[in-house]
Amino acid sequence: MTLYTDQNSLLKALLPYRNSKKIGFIPTMGALHEGHISLINKGLEENNVVVVSIFVNPTQFDNAGDLKKYPRTLEADIALISTLKGTVFIFSPDATDLYQGKVASKHFSFDGLEHEMEGKHRKGHFDGVGTVVSLLLKAVRPDKAYFGEKDFQQLQIVKKLVEIENLPTKIIGCPIVRESNGLAMSSRNKRLSPKQFEAAAIIHETLSEVNQKFKTHSIAQLNALVQQRFSKNNDLELEYFEIANVKTLKTAKHKRKGNNYRAFIAAFAGKVRLIDNKALEE
Ligand code: AMP
Repeated sequence: MTLYTDQNSLLKALLPYRNSKKIGFIPTMGALHEGHISLINKGLEENNVVVVSIFVNPTQFDNAGDLKKYPRTLEADIALISTLKGTVFIFSPDATDLYQGKVASKHFSFDGLEHEMEGKHRKGHFDGVGTVVSLLLKAVRPDKAYFGEKDFQQLQIVKKLVEIENLPTKIIGCPIVRESNGLAMSSRNKRLSPKQFEAAAIIHETLSEVNQKFKTHSIAQLNALVQQRFSKNNDLELEYFEIANVKTLKTAKHKRKGNNYRAFIAAFAGKVRLIDNKALEE
C-alpha cells in the first residue's frame, strides 16, 4: 500500500503500469467497510494494480450537516487496506488538488437518469457525482472502475458519463454487501445507535418482501404494503419507495413484459439517511 495525496505523484507511480499492465480503480469517500473491500478485492483479482481514492466530495452533498458529519477515518482505512494482498495505491487528494481550481460542479445531462429518485431528493447531487467521477477517471485513467449496486442510480449514471465523455474505462457493477441483519453496509451506518441499527433492518426486509410478492401483486398493492410497513415503525421514516425500470429509472406504475424492474428505498433513521435497492424477479 502506498499513499498519494496529489495527482502528479500518483501519475508518476502509475507510469510503469500504463502499457501492458492493467489498472483498476475504486472511488470511495472512505470510512471503509466490507462493501468497499469487496470492490477492492474484485479489482485486485482483475488488475495488476488497484487505485482506491478516498475523497469526501463536497460538491455532491446538498446538506451541509451531512457533509460535516460524514465519517473520516483515513488512518483506519489505510490500516484496513494494508491487510489486503496485492498492490494498492491510495489516492487521497485535497479538493483543490483534485479540482485544480474552483471546487464547483459542472452541469450534466444523463438522459433524464439524474432527475429520478436521488436526483429529486438531493438537489445537484448527480452534478457533483458526475464532476468528481469525471475528474477522478481522467486523473487515474484506469482500465476498469468498480462501483457498487448499493448506489444503483449512481452506477447507471457513471456508465452514461463514460459514454458521454468517451472515456476508455470499463465500468463494473458489484453486488451489495450486507450486515448480518440484512442492512446494506454503508459508511453512514457508523452514525446509527444500536437501536437504529436493528430497526434499519426493515429496509432490506421490505425489499425482500416486495421481491417475493412481485409476481403476484400489482405495483399499487406493493406501494401500499410498503407505506403500511413503514407507518408502523417509529425508528425509520420512509423518504421514498419506488419500483423503477432498470434502464430508464423511471417510476413504474404497471409491469410491462420485457422490462426489468428494481425496488428502491430511501429512509431516515434520525438524521442518518439510508438507501438500498433490490432487483425484482418476475
Ligand atoms: P462511498 O464511499 O459510499 O461513496 O462508496 C464507494 C463505492 O462503494 C460506491 O461505488 C458504492 O456503491 C460502493 N459501496 C458502498 N457500500 C456498498 C455495499 N454495501 N456493497 C457494495 N458496494 C458498496
